[in-house]
Amino acid sequence: SVAPLGSSVIPIVNKLQDIFAQLGSQSTIELPQVAVVGSQSSGKSSVLESLVGRDFLPRGNDICTRRPLVLQLLQTKRKLDGSEEEYGEFLHLPGKRFYDFSEIRREIQAETDREAGGNKGVSDRQIRLKVFSPNVLDITLVDLPGITKVPVGDQPSDIEARIRTMIMSYIKQPSCLILAVTPANSDLANSDALQLAGNADPDGSRTIGVITKLDIMDRGTDARNLLLGKVIPLRLGYIGVVNRSQEDILLNQSIKDALVAEEKFFRSRPVYNGLADRCGVPQLAKKLNQILVQHIKAILPGLKSRISSALVSLAKEHASYGEITESRAGQGALLLNILSKYCEAFSSIVEGKNEEMSTS
Ligand code: GDP
Ligand code: MG
Repeated sequence: SVAPLGSSVIPIVNKLQDIFAQLGSQSTIELPQVAVVGSQSSGKSSVLESLVGRDFLPRGNDICTRRPLVLQLLQTKRKLDGSEEEYGEFLHLPGKRFYDFSEIRREIQAETDREAGGNKGVSDRQIRLKVFSPNVLDITLVDLPGITKVPVGDQPSDIEARIRTMIMSYIKQPSCLILAVTPANSDLANSDALQLAGNADPDGSRTIGVITKLDIMDRGTDARNLLLGKVIPLRLGYIGVVNRSQEDILLNQSIKDALVAEEKFFRSRPVYNGLADRCGVPQLAKKLNQILVQHIKAILPGLKSRISSALVSLAKEHASYGEITESRAGQGALLLNILSKYCEAFSSIVEGKNEEMSTS
């Protein structure tokens, strides 16, 4: 199972991480967080799952996400025999590895109930999950409860305000990329997602519009104008997706099959011809990748200067050792030289804006 998100950025990020590891530097590249916002049942959890390429989030046409889930993806080295080991670990259950992703979903549900009760209660206490896999990029995704207006079950009367405050605390951070999710079968002008994102990111520099449920629009309507930004313009634009319906979930349709079905959906509808770059989860992953590359590009000058100051201090250190370490000093300088070449090569890759960066 290959995660579409990050697939083109993984090699360059890895290379930079290696450089820092060799420099003995702990702090590596911090990628932005990605958070999903929108109203309840708009498809937020479904979108995140498709991006990760694994089934593990509670989803459904009721309030399923009732606590923020902070999902840290962590890349592991592929085993020598080529086999893949993917597992999850919760902060509240240290040391326990979940190899079965449906068990991860059950644990999210159980842990939600423990904190927020079994009767639709919502809590702002995070659930923190790490997923270790050779197929992912080191990035943090945040699944958030959706906006609801009418209190149900154990929800307090000010449920809407509470959820809004909770969501804002994540998306107002300038380093947070916002996936603003709106279902195609509701009016974009009423979109909670766009409203929240607009408050948190007024110039739209870190908001991507995601239109879900293109498959269940009213007959005779389509999302063409939405996707073209003709209804509500958005600087980074919109991507339309088709996720699994509740029926597909009950029938245990896999993510892989869902992606095939999505592709078929767009291919078979002439109205989406010519909009290929705005349609489908793989395009959403691609767009995120491009934004990540831009981000790396922006932080690159800082990385370079860290490498050169490391070079200077190493040279000084060696000078103070005197003659015995002549050869060690030489080795250190050589190593750093190689590293700064790496970094330069990397910049030129980024400058060349090559999305499908090669691993070589
Ligand atoms: P969330 O509350 O925003 O996290 O929404 P979920 O991801 O839990 O999805 C809510 C319901 O909508 C689930 O029953 C999904 O199966 C369904 N759903 C989500 N996206 C789509 C879509 O693109 N098409 C269809 N037909 N159903 C969808
Ligand atoms: Mg959800």
